[in-house]
Amino acid sequence: ITFALVNVLAIAIGDISKYRNANLNVCLHFQWEEVSIMDEKNIPIRTYQVCNVLEPSQNNWLRTDWIPRSGAQRVYVEVKFTLRDCNSLPGVTGTCKETFNLYYHESNDDRESYIKESSFIKVDTVAADESFTQVDVGDRIMKLNTEVRDVKVTTRKGFYLAFQDVGACIALVSVRVFYKTCPLTIRNLATFPDTVTGADTSSLVEVRGSCVNQSEEREEPKMYCGADGEWLVPIGGCLCNPGYEDKGGACKACTAGFYKAKSSDVGCSKCPPHSHSLRDGATVCDCHSGYYRADTDPPAMACTQPPSAPQQLISVVNKTSVVLEWSPPRRLGGRSDTKYPRLGSDSGSGSQLCLPCGSDVVFSPGQTDLKATRVVVSELRAHTHYTFIVQAGNGVSQISGAGTAQSVSVTVTTNQAAPSPVSSIQATDVTRHSLSLSWQQPDRPNGVILEYEVKFYEKDQRERSYRIMRTFSRSVDVTGLNPLTVYVFHVRARTAAGYGEFSASFEFSTNSDPFPLIGEGVNSAFLLLSVSGVGILLLISAAVFIISRRYTHTNMHTLLSIEPGVKIYVDPFTYEDPDQAIHEFAKEIDVSSIHIERVIGMGEFGEVCSGRLRLQGKREIYVAIKSLKAGYSDKQRRDFLSEASIMGQFDHPNIIRLEGVVTRCKPLMIITEYMENGSLDAFLRKHDGQFTVIQLVGMLRGIASGMKYLSDMSYVHRDLAARNILVNSNLVCKVSDFGLSRVLEDDPEAAYTTREATGTYLSPGGKIPIRWTAPEAIAYRKFTTASDVWSYGIVMWEVVSYGERPYWDMNNQDVIKAIEEGYRLPAPMDCPVVLHQLMLDCWERERAERPTFSQILNMLDKLIRNPGTLRRTGGERPTATMLESGVGSEVCVSVVPEVCMPEWSVCEWLQSIGLERYRDTLAAAGYTNSTVFRTFCLSPRTHTTFLVNGILGKDERLQFPGVNT
Ligand code: AMP
Repeated sequence: ITFALVNVLAIAIGDISKYRNANLNVCLHFQWEEVSIMDEKNIPIRTYQVCNVLEPSQNNWLRTDWIPRSGAQRVYVEVKFTLRDCNSLPGVTGTCKETFNLYYHESNDDRESYIKESSFIKVDTVAADESFTQVDVGDRIMKLNTEVRDVKVTTRKGFYLAFQDVGACIALVSVRVFYKTCPLTIRNLATFPDTVTGADTSSLVEVRGSCVNQSEEREEPKMYCGADGEWLVPIGGCLCNPGYEDKGGACKACTAGFYKAKSSDVGCSKCPPHSHSLRDGATVCDCHSGYYRADTDPPAMACTQPPSAPQQLISVVNKTSVVLEWSPPRRLGGRSDTKYPRLGSDSGSGSQLCLPCGSDVVFSPGQTDLKATRVVVSELRAHTHYTFIVQAGNGVSQISGAGTAQSVSVTVTTNQAAPSPVSSIQATDVTRHSLSLSWQQPDRPNGVILEYEVKFYEKDQRERSYRIMRTFSRSVDVTGLNPLTVYVFHVRARTAAGYGEFSASFEFSTNSDPFPLIGEGVNSAFLLLSVSGVGILLLISAAVFIISRRYTHTNMHTLLSIEPGVKIYVDPFTYEDPDQAIHEFAKEIDVSSIHIERVIGMGEFGEVCSGRLRLQGKREIYVAIKSLKAGYSDKQRRDFLSEASIMGQFDHPNIIRLEGVVTRCKPLMIITEYMENGSLDAFLRKHDGQFTVIQLVGMLRGIASGMKYLSDMSYVHRDLAARNILVNSNLVCKVSDFGLSRVLEDDPEAAYTTREATGTYLSPGGKIPIRWTAPEAIAYRKFTTASDVWSYGIVMWEVVSYGERPYWDMNNQDVIKAIEEGYRLPAPMDCPVVLHQLMLDCWERERAERPTFSQILNMLDKLIRNPGTLRRTGGERPTATMLESGVGSEVCVSVVPEVCMPEWSVCEWLQSIGLERYRDTLAAAGYTNSTVFRTFCLSPRTHTTFLVNGILGKDERLQFPGVNT
């Protein structure tokens, strides 16, 4: 038997000497004899023999001892015997048999001494396959038969076997009793125990396997143990636990450097890049230091790093919205899920503390988790400083704890913006000639609403003739209307930034019932009177209507009603009483709080002094005081104060700030912030060649920023020149001289033009500063922001040439002619090519071709960010130097005075100065991305003190000890 032969219950009878008294205490019955014979190998063996062939009716029994069943249900009996051929026995009659019978008897009693014959159940009659003819062992003619029978034994603890001889010549050589099991086995990583087969030859025993060590059930492991001891139909199985793999049916731990993350039938895998496993049985590999794995990263993925900061953050301000654009980080850290998880911003004006953006600020497409590298931030407050921080991140940023190192910021100042349109208008109290209009404040006022303008016209007339009403409140009574007429109304709001757009049109009709009071019981006389009265009224109103129509034809902007009570902006040049305008926008200062110190210049209307101003509750500041000399005319007074009225409407770091006015006592004074370095042209001439190009560009940037602010407010300066730019001790340039109504008469550069004024932009007789003015403004006084851009180009030239006079000593007529013929100022010495190109762009003949101030500002910002682009110049000259300090008054210079530049990382900074190769050296020395790097060009053997203005307040400066080059 090749399969599991287990538990031989009875041992070979031939070995009876050994077991005789042990477990095979064979009982002899009748003729059975214990005889020794020699087996085939001539080894003596013991047998039980019987051979009563000559006598009839033989019934000789041989019974075994009790054999315990031991859980078996079917036992096998293997009998080895020899049998004598009846024919070979001489003289034998028909009584000779060649078979014997095998019986069994089940019993719980292991010592039954007597068992009745009838208690035995016959298993089979056993015949010999081979019989032999003579007993001659020496000749090897004895034939040994082996017969196996099986018996189901299920009812008692054990059984007895019995052999019945009915007259054969037989020798029992051995009886082996056994049962079959399906042996312990491991299949699909489940262990199946040694299992006894079933009772029937066809029965299958269902066995549940148990998972081997370090494995878990995939599906219930099952097999069937067949009757012949063979395992059949394996189902289900187990899988090695994480960290273990199947090695020859056992789960073995993954070795170091390998891992297995899941219960699966695959083997251990090598650790992915940037990770390792030090111990056996790793379920995941640990990341190398500085590398991380996101929760959602599969264990097979390489460990990764957070991205570096986004690059090249560019901002473009458009009124109260900002477009931010940036490039993806240089290092993505080995991942493709770079997002811009946070787009933050802080706002604060002037020196106030930064505040987070209000919740009403709209980020489009969103503020977090952006995939795009462009976002539009709108609904910002008008004219406010905002710092935007763009942070790059990926799946491992949080885990790595990387924060600001991955962010880049930019600071912008929003522009003034006009209010949004009024969305709906209601009409009430409609009568024949009047109605009351009311409306809601615009959704986005963008500032304090100073007034509303109501435009209306008869629907039939379209907009050929319309009337305008201005009011401080959100309602107005419109009178003087024609009966039974449909009118179209539009309303728009105005702030200091100007008018917003008109609302959509709303149509209302005057009352159609001429006599609503007339009813029953009114007498005919009254009726007659009323009718005639109404007729007269109609005639009068028709006459009024015709007159008013004619009037509105010629005066499109007829002011019909101004309601009192609300502060209103008054255009200082169109309003009769300059005092009313001045008090709208300028603070009246008590003369006692002003302390005049010295005369610093001469203005059109009188001296300009410097001094100190101490307002209650505030610290003392230095101011410039302009006073109106005695004996002034009304016009002079109006012109003098109008500058303050204009200046008071502006609030920008590059526009000279008005502190207030003194109008209640003589002399009249205008108090502005004090600009230590006076006017820019004189300042540059005094310090010829002493600034770095980047410093000069910083000044130009400030002027451009101020001009952009003015142009956003639709204010045209008309006299932009270096002489009208003032410079403070920090080298911050501010636009000044807003005496627009003076028509430049106070400007010594302004000259009368020889041509006729064709437009109405300036009063006739106005003078024009020819060298600074665009050709179209000279030719037909077309002063626009584009003509201011032309002047800005001249200012650029003045700045880069350190206050040189434009067109040198050419006379005005020659300048006009040269410009007309296409001549343009050449690049000043050492002027970077890009700057001269920008000048030439500003001097485009077609004003539409000139850049806007916004574009100029962006361009200069880019140049400042990439100083390398400023290196190429047209001419030769020693390197520009920084001011040496120490001679008399110290001059402070800053690279980019009022602008907060994005921080440069170590890498970017080194790149900008061509020293990238020192990156590792600096990193090793602990200079991280949070260190701000700036390069200053200094002249040899000079002492320089550095002051750093923080974003939190211009007045808070950090002073570093001086350095000597
Ligand atoms: P104005 O004619 O009003 O531009 O002033 C005449 C001169 O006074 C200027 O050229 C400056 O030198 C000086 N000045 C005017 N305003 C200031 C100021 N705010 N700070 C310093 N100097 C000023």
